[in-house]
Order: sequence, then structure tokens, then C-alpha cells
Amino acid sequence: MRTPVIAGNWKMHKTVEEAVDFVETIQRSELPGEVETVLCAPFLALPALAEKAKGSKIGIGAQNVHWEEQGAYTGEVSVPMLKAAGVQYVIIGHSERRTYFAETDETVNRKVKAAIAGGLTPIVCVGEVLEERESGQTKQVVQEQVKKGLNGLSSEEMKKVIIAYEPVWAIGTGKASTAEDAEEVISFIRKTVADLFDQQVANEVRIQYGGSVKPENIGTYIAQPNIDGALVGGASLEPASFLKLVEAAA
Ligand code: PEP
Repeated sequence: MRTPVIAGNWKMHKTVEEAVDFVETIQRSELPGEVETVLCAPFLALPALAEKAKGSKIGIGAQNVHWEEQGAYTGEVSVPMLKAAGVQYVIIGHSERRTYFAETDETVNRKVKAAIAGGLTPIVCVGEVLEERESGQTKQVVQEQVKKGLNGLSSEEMKKVIIAYEPVWAIGTGKASTAEDAEEVISFIRKTVADLFDQQVANEVRIQYGGSVKPENIGTYIAQPNIDGALVGGASLEPASFLKLVEAAA
């Protein structure tokens, strides 16, 4: 019922030329229609990628955005700027932005609202750090992030959000969550969405898993009833590996 989303998060990798080469390579393969395929690239590469991907099954996403439309915010990029460049998605609240760039649930909330108002699909990241997992606080932590990050959205707006559950200890470490543990947290997030909004919204909202997903393990996540695809860092950097992930989600 829900279309799975495979989103690559390239982080701070690839020049414009390398990014365009990547898209040209994957465009030589037939992408499955039943998977939403997204590449989230550094800002500089976005206009060229959006141009290349126009009319194809590949969606293009940014990795961050500011909540204001314009103004004295040196170094920032706004939703209308991304829209004008042909971008359709934006990752918000990735753990690296929370850890290194002081992103908070409050700034996540502002960005999510701005993204939706401006017609971008936000991919909102939540997840616990290792100490929180080890002290049994995972559900409490993700519930708080979902509540605060998505506070004030209408049900219609919430249906446009994609949530990515990314346990921080699993990102870029090679220590992926088991599919069963990820399913448990993601079904809890879905229940949280039902409590905050309603059951219909919870049934429709897509929730991805992220954290050391690879072609070898993606099938275990896709097989879970509540996991609607993956947000993938390292394994999205090579076309062959990214294509395998997309094909496995079909
Ligand atoms: C990410 O960047 O969101 C991520 C999950 O990275 P990796 O797949 O490399 O763990």
C-alpha cells in the first residue's frame, strides 16, 4: 500500500561532474516503477542533477535547508532556491547535522514546516545514540524527536513527510540494527504518529530505516511490514550498489 523509498545520502561526497556521471550510469538501467528513488546530493550538484533527472524515475534531494525564504543568513540555502533548482526532497535533522551543526528538534520543526509549505518532501531523521539505546531510552528518545520535530503539522501535511529512523550508532559504522529491532522501533514510531495525528495518517506515512544498509542486508528490512525503504549513506555512493538497493526494494 505504501510505496517504498530508497534515498541515497551522499553527504559531502562528489563533485558536480561525479554526480552527473553517477546519474548517467544508473539511467542506463531500468529502474523499478514501484520504488521511489531519491538521490540527496551536496548543494552545488543539485541543479545539474535535477536537469539530468528531469522526467525520469529519479528524484533529487538536498541534505539541509533553512526555514526562511531569504535574508541575512550567510551560507544558508532556502526552500524556494531549492525548488527553483528542480529539487523535490530534503533531508532534515540528520544526526550529523544534530551532532556537528547544532540542529535541534525546534530547528527541525521550522525546516519541516518551511519545506512542506514550499512544496518539498521532507525526509525527517530521528534516532537514538548508543548510550540511550543501552539505557533503554530508545522509544522515549524517538518519540520526543517525532513529537517536537513534527509539532503543529496538519494531518494532510503529515502525510507528505517521510520519516527516517536512523539509530545514530548504526550510521556509517557497519553495525546495522537487526531488521527485527528496526521494525520494533519503526512500528512504535507509526503508533506515535497515530496518537499525534490519526490512524489514517499513520497508515500512509512512509518510515524508512537507515544505518549501514547495504545490498546484502536490505532485503531483511524490506521484508518487515512497517519499514518502507531505506536512507543509505556509504552504499549509495557507487552506482552498482545503489541500483542493487533500489532493485531489492521493488
Ligand atoms: C546516512 O547517512 O543516513 C546513513 C545511514 O549512512 P550509512 O548508510 O553509511 O550508515
